Amino acid sequence: MLEEQLEVLIIGAGPSGCVAAGYLHNKGFKIKVVEKSTFPRFVIGESLLPRCMEHFEETGLLNCLKIEGFQEKHGARFLIDGKPVHFDFAKKFSEGWNWTWQVPRADFDHALTRQLEEYGVNIDFGCEVTHVAIDAEGNSKTTVTQSDGSEAVLNSKFIIDASGHGRVLPRLLHLDVKSSIPDHSSIFTHVKDVNRPEGIEGTLITFDIIDLNTWLWVIPFSNGMCSIGYVGATDFMESLQGSPTEKLQQLMERSGHYAKRFQHIPYEFEPVMIKNVAKSVATMWGKGFALTGNSAEFLDPVFSSGVTFATESGLMAAKLIAKELKGKRVNWQTDYENYMRAGIDVFATYVKEWYSGNLQKIFSHADNNPEIKSQICAVLAGYVWDTENPFVAKHDRLVKALARVIELQSSNKENLSG
Ligand SMILES: Cc1cc2nc3c(=O)[nH]c(=O)nc-3n(C[C@H](O)[C@H](O)[C@H](O)COP(=O)(O)OP(=O)(O)OC[C@H]3O[C@@H](n4cnc5c(N)ncnc54)[C@H](O)[C@@H]3O)c2cc1C
Repeated sequence: MLEEQLEVLIIGAGPSGCVAAGYLHNKGFKIKVVEKSTFPRFVIGESLLPRCMEHFEETGLLNCLKIEGFQEKHGARFLIDGKPVHFDFAKKFSEGWNWTWQVPRADFDHALTRQLEEYGVNIDFGCEVTHVAIDAEGNSKTTVTQSDGSEAVLNSKFIIDASGHGRVLPRLLHLDVKSSIPDHSSIFTHVKDVNRPEGIEGTLITFDIIDLNTWLWVIPFSNGMCSIGYVGATDFMESLQGSPTEKLQQLMERSGHYAKRFQHIPYEFEPVMIKNVAKSVATMWGKGFALTGNSAEFLDPVFSSGVTFATESGLMAAKLIAKELKGKRVNWQTDYENYMRAGIDVFATYVKEWYSGNLQKIFSHADNNPEIKSQICAVLAGYVWDTENPFVAKHDRLVKALARVIELQSSNKENLSG
């Protein structure tokens, strides 16, 4: 059986694994990426946040994306009770990127891996991790099934588990725990956007809010295709009748804004349903390994935080591994887990307060206070580690308090007019 010695093994060639691989390869470490699919492959997660541009830039992966001509994303629109609330990233509180992309992930992830291979990174496609044994020193033996069906053993000092929904180490090491986010499920597909309106309306990413728990995403791509998907409470999504196509068609009819644009257009593939999308783990690291991206945590699609969390964690884990391999001490709990959790906690508050209705109330009144809007906009752009922003530093109290003030103001107005 083939046996190979590595410094770092990266499981998964999604954005998290690619950013980690880019960084470690640039630093000269002996690494390998194993990826069970062959690319291009479909994966959901198509709306990016400006913050992740920094990670691609730092790892030399930005130019290969720029030449793909993806649809630029300069903000996000929410339709609440049919009324638009637009967040413009150029008006956000924090320093940093003001734009990003809306991307078909098959093309996006393929562009990243092609660039890495050009740089000389060894990526084994069609190679699936089946078993991992890690000793007390953190040295690991990983068994993989290669594309020709043969088995190989990869010995490494570190593993970055960037296996996304595959969740290789959380499954093998029993690290899965229930997420604190309420149970939501999603159903989605792609369509040819043949009724796309001219101008900005046609290219805008939009979250159309149907009710407190149920919303629709519309993500137009530059190649004329569009991603459409619904998110709702799992009980409700399970109660829908019919085939996946019939389910999504029923849901699309509930959108006052979009029903007509997507009526009678055949779906490119049978809609995919993912149940209970939120995932969490007991720990994001252990001796000799780090969990990054979706393998570690996923909250909810509502604020498009998934890929940004994947690249932030992939890059951070790679930096800490590089430091440790150079003989420096790393405190993984403080420097990795606590750092990542600080950002996750901000997004988790926004997701929970979205479904409690508090954030939807705040969004509806956002135009009354440009300063507050710019602070919330920075969170929506992924700048959730900027503690200068009060809506980051005091996220847990401020969102609730502001929603309460809006409630009181509204009831005062009603009393005065009554
Ligand atoms: C309904 C829904 C909507 C979403 N919308 C958005 C959005 O709009 N914006 C956003 O940023 N995020 C979104 N996300 C989240 C997004 O999908 C993920 O956060 C993102 O893809 C994570 O990237 P990753 O690199 O961690 O994992 P992935 O991109 O999933 O890559 C992991 C890779 O690991 C490989 N792999 C798995 N198991 C193994 C194995 N055993 N051996 C070898 N390789 C393996 C897989 O084949 C895969 O290619 C959404 C998620 C859901 C569920």
